[in-house]
Amino acid sequence: MERLRHTDIKYLKGVGPQRGELLAKELGIRTCADLLRHYPSHYVDRSTTYRIADFSGDMPMVQVRGRFISFTIQGEGAKRRLTGLFSDGTRAMEIVWFRKIQQIQKAYQTSVEYVVFGKPTLFGSRWSMAHPEIDVAGAPTASDGLRGVYPLTEKLRAKGFTSKTFHTLITSLLSGLAANVSDPLPRSVTAPLRLMSLQEALAAIHSPSDRDRLQKARLRLKFEELYYLQLNILRYTRQRQAAIGGFRFARIGDYFNRFYKECMPFELTGAQKRVIREIRADMGSGKQMNRLLQGDVGSGKTLVALLCMLIAVDNNTQACLMAPTEILATQHYATIRSMVSQIGVNVRLLTGSTPAREREEIHRQLLDGSLHILIGTHAVIEDAVRFRNLGFVVIDEQHRFGVAQRARLWKKNTTPPHVLVMTATPIPRTLAMTVYGDLDVSVIDELPPGRKPVHTELRYDERRFEVYQGIGRRLKEGRQVYIVYPLISESEKTDLKSLEEGYQLICDTFPHYKVAYVHGRMKPSEKDYQMQLFASHKADILVATTVIEVGVNVPNATTMVIENAERFGLSQLHQLRGRVGRGADQSYCILMTKMKLAKETRKRLEVMTSTTDGFLVAEADLKMRGPGDLEGTLQSGMAIDLRIANLATDGQIVQMARDAASRTLDTDPNLSSYEFAGVRKEMALLFDHAIDWSRIS
Ligand code: ADP
Ligand code: MG
Repeated sequence: MERLRHTDIKYLKGVGPQRGELLAKELGIRTCADLLRHYPSHYVDRSTTYRIADFSGDMPMVQVRGRFISFTIQGEGAKRRLTGLFSDGTRAMEIVWFRKIQQIQKAYQTSVEYVVFGKPTLFGSRWSMAHPEIDVAGAPTASDGLRGVYPLTEKLRAKGFTSKTFHTLITSLLSGLAANVSDPLPRSVTAPLRLMSLQEALAAIHSPSDRDRLQKARLRLKFEELYYLQLNILRYTRQRQAAIGGFRFARIGDYFNRFYKECMPFELTGAQKRVIREIRADMGSGKQMNRLLQGDVGSGKTLVALLCMLIAVDNNTQACLMAPTEILATQHYATIRSMVSQIGVNVRLLTGSTPAREREEIHRQLLDGSLHILIGTHAVIEDAVRFRNLGFVVIDEQHRFGVAQRARLWKKNTTPPHVLVMTATPIPRTLAMTVYGDLDVSVIDELPPGRKPVHTELRYDERRFEVYQGIGRRLKEGRQVYIVYPLISESEKTDLKSLEEGYQLICDTFPHYKVAYVHGRMKPSEKDYQMQLFASHKADILVATTVIEVGVNVPNATTMVIENAERFGLSQLHQLRGRVGRGADQSYCILMTKMKLAKETRKRLEVMTSTTDGFLVAEADLKMRGPGDLEGTLQSGMAIDLRIANLATDGQIVQMARDAASRTLDTDPNLSSYEFAGVRKEMALLFDHAIDWSRIS
C-alpha cells in the first residue's frame, strides 16, 4: 500500500498527465492508492445472461450474448445514428449509437461474439438499446459477477470517463500488484473477526464474484474505517481520564438513605436502578465521570439525577443542576424541593430573574457550603457563582448546551466535578459512542409501569372541526390540552401571527375554558406565570410554541394538537409528544397538516403514527436525513471522512470496531509495537498528526 500511496496516478497505464489531473481535480484521486479506495457506489448484476426473447415490461440493465447481423446509418446531421442489428439466437434487437459513429462502426465486427450490457426499451415491436457497454465475449473485462458502478462527475463523463473506464484501470492495477498488498491491520485484529485481508477486500469490492464476497469485502473496509475512528476517540478518552483525577464518592450516607426510605414517591424501574449503579461505580472510581444519560421522554431521568446529587451531598460536596430554560429550571426546582425538603437538604433556584438580594444570599450560601443543591439556568455558570466544593453537575437536555458551556461548569473547582449530561434526544447507542466520544453512555430503556402509548393520528386541516369536538370531550372530562404552533425562528412575524390567530380561535371555540399562552419572546416572568396557570390547572388549554418542547411535566394534560406538523423534524415531534402520556390515562397526539403533502413528508409523519419508541423514531430520522447534524457535533480532531461506513446504518460494525479498538489499546496503549506500526501510520495520515494527545483537555 505504501508504494501505491507514492505512485502518482498519471503513471498508471491508460491515465497519463491530462486524465491524471482531471481525476485529481474532480475526485481527489492523486495516487494509485486513492484509486483503489474509490469504491463503486452500487453494483449491477452481470452474473445472468438474458435472452432477448424473454424481454418484457420495464427491463432493468441486462446483459445479452450474441452477434451483430448488420450495421446501417440513418438520418442526417444531428439526427444521424448508427443502428446495429444484434441477435442472440432467440430474437434480434437494435443497438443504437448517436455519437462517435465512425469509431464504433470500425470497432465492432459481425463475425465476433460480444456481450452487450444496457437497458432495453421497446420501440413498437422491437427492443432497442442505446450506447450499451460492449465486450468481446470471454474477455477479462467482461466480468460475469457483479459489476461496480462508480461515482462520476459531469466533467469526467464529458471527457469520456465511464464506470467501465474505472473498472478497466482498477482491474489492471490490481492484477499488476505483487502477491500481497501489506495490510495495516495485524492478524491479531482481523483473524478473530474473520475479516478479509486488505488485498482480498480490495479485489472483491471492485469485482465481486457474488453478493456474499461483496458483503465480506464491505465489512472489512467499513470495519477498518471505523476502527481508526474508534481508536482515535478512545485514545483521547483514555488519556483524559488518566490525566484528570476526580472526587471519590465512597459512601452512601444519610441523605440518600433517608430519601430512599422516606420520600421515594415510587419504586424505581429496573433501568433506573441499573443506571444509578453505573453512575455510582463511576463516581467511586477516583476518575472524573463524564457520562451521557439517555432516556426517552418520561423515562424518569430527573429522579435518577436527584438520587445521584444526594450521593454527592452525602460525600460533603455540592451539586448543581442546569436546565436550558427558565420554565424547566423552575419546574425542576419545584419538584426536587418538594421531594427533599423533609430530609433537610437545602435547595435553591438561580435564574436570570432571581432578584439581587436573593442572589447574594445564594452566593453566600454556596461559598459557606450551607447550600447543598443549586438548580438554575445559564445563570449558574456566571463567574460570580462560586462553590465551596462542587462535586457533581447535572446538565439537563444537553443538546442546548455547547461543549464550551459544559467546560465552564467543571472548571469551577480545582478537583473537577463529576458531570452527568441528560438528554431525551435518542441517538442510537453506537452513534452516540462516536459522536460523544469522550462521554460514557447510560441508557434508560424502560418507561415507568402503567404508561399507555400515546395514540397518534394525522389529521387534515379540513377536519379541524372533528378535532375540536374531541378536545371538547377531553376538557369536559377534566383533562388539559396542549396546542402547539411551529415557531421555527422566534423572530418570524408570520409565525407569531399564526400563533396569535390560533390562540384567538381557541378562545372563541372554547369560551367556557381558560386558555394560557406562551412563546419564546415573552418576558420570563410572564412565561412563568402562564406556565404556572397551566401546571396548576387554573388553565385548561395551553397554546404554545416549542418552548414547551423540553421537560415540562403536567400529567393531567392528555391531548396534544400539533399545528403544521409537517414543519417539525421527527425528533422534535417526538419530544413534543412526550409532554402527554405522563399519567396513567390514555393520551392523544394529533398531527394537523394541510391536505397536500409531499410523499417523503407523509412517510416521515407516518413514522410518528406507527411507533412511540424514541429510539425507533430517531433511527428513522437518521436514515431519512442522514447523520449530518450529528457528525457536525463530532468534536474537532475527531472527524474523519468516512468513505464506505455509514454511522447511521452500520451500528453493529461501529460496535465491533469499538470493541476491537478497546482491546488494541488494552494491549498497546500507544500503538508503539511493531505489530501496530501499520495502524499507527494510517492514523497519522488520517488524523492531524499535529495533535499532541497528551495535551487535549
Ligand atoms: P424525563 O426523563 O423525560 O425527564 P421525568 O424525570 O420528568 O422524565 O419523569 C417523568 C414522570 O415520570 C414524572 O412525573 C416522574 O415523577 C415519573 N416517574 C419517574 N420515575 C418513575 C418511576 N420509577 N415510577 C413511576 N413514575 C416515575
Ligand atoms: Mg426531563
